[in-house]
Amino acid sequence: MYLFDYHMHSDHSTDGQDSIMKMSTAAAGKGLREIAISDHFEPTLGNEAYPSYDAEKYFREIKEANEMFGQKIKIKTAVELGQPHVFPEYSLSLIENHNYDYVIASAHKMSDNTDFGDLVYSRENLDDNCGKYLTELENLAGWNKFDCIGHLDLVKRYASRYNIEAKLIHYREKLENILKTLIENGKGIEINTSGLRQSAKECMPGYDILRFYKELGGEIITLGSDAHNHFDVGAGIADAVELLRTAGFEYMTVYEKRKPEMIRIAQEKTFWFQAQRTA
Ligand SMILES: [Zn+2]
Ligand SMILES: [Zn+2]
Repeated sequence: MYLFDYHMHSDHSTDGQDSIMKMSTAAAGKGLREIAISDHFEPTLGNEAYPSYDAEKYFREIKEANEMFGQKIKIKTAVELGQPHVFPEYSLSLIENHNYDYVIASAHKMSDNTDFGDLVYSRENLDDNCGKYLTELENLAGWNKFDCIGHLDLVKRYASRYNIEAKLIHYREKLENILKTLIENGKGIEINTSGLRQSAKECMPGYDILRFYKELGGEIITLGSDAHNHFDVGAGIADAVELLRTAGFEYMTVYEKRKPEMIRIAQEKTFWFQAQRTA
C-alpha cells in the first residue's frame, strides 16, 4: 500500500518541535512513501505579514531532505494557511511567489482573531459556535486559492474537551453548500488523524461527513497526521485509509506542483498493517 502523510509541522511552525530533517528521517523509517511538510502561515490582526515564516529557509531544508532521502521517499513542499480569506493578500503573495506542491487552508480563528480553540463550548452555545465556524468555512471555501481544507470539522476537537459532541452533519444545509463549493471548484478535503490522538477519538472529518461528501460527488481526499513532532509522523494514516475504504472511496489524492494525482486504494491490507506496526 502506498502510504503518505500530507499534514505535519516541523520547527518552522511555532508549535512544531522537530527539524524538517528529523521529520523526514522518521517518515522514511516508518515506510511512508511520501510526505508533505505543511508548516503554519498564520497571519493575525497586527501580525498580518507573519514575518517569522521563512519560506527561503523552508524550501532550502526541504531540498536538503530530498537530497538525503530522495530514493526512499518523496518530500513535498506544503503550507497550512490559517484563515487566508481574512488576510488574502499575504497568503496569496506567499503561494504565488513560491513553488508549493500542496496548499492546505484551515479556519483556526475568526476574523476578530478569536481562536476556535479558545471558545467555551456548552450545550447552550453549541449551535452558535458551530454556526460561527461554518461561516468561516464558507468564506474560506469561497476564497478558493488552496488545494484542500484542513481538519474540516475542527470544532469537534475543541467541543470534545468539554465532553460535548459537535457534529457538523447536523447543520446539513450549510455543510452541503461548503462541500459543493469545494467539489465544483476541484478542491478537496483531508482526513486529519490528530483527532484519534485527542479527546474526540475520531478523525476530522469522520465517517458521516465523508459519506455526505461522497454522496455529493466529492472525490479528492488527502490524509494527514497533523504531527507536531517526529513521533506522530504517520500516526493513524493506516486507520484513515480504512475509514476511506469503509466510506466507499476507491482513491486517495496526492499533489505535485498543485496538481492532484489519484492513487487507488489497494484491496489487500497486509502492507499497511505492516507499516502501522513500524510506525
Ligand atoms: Zn490546523
Ligand atoms: Zn496543522
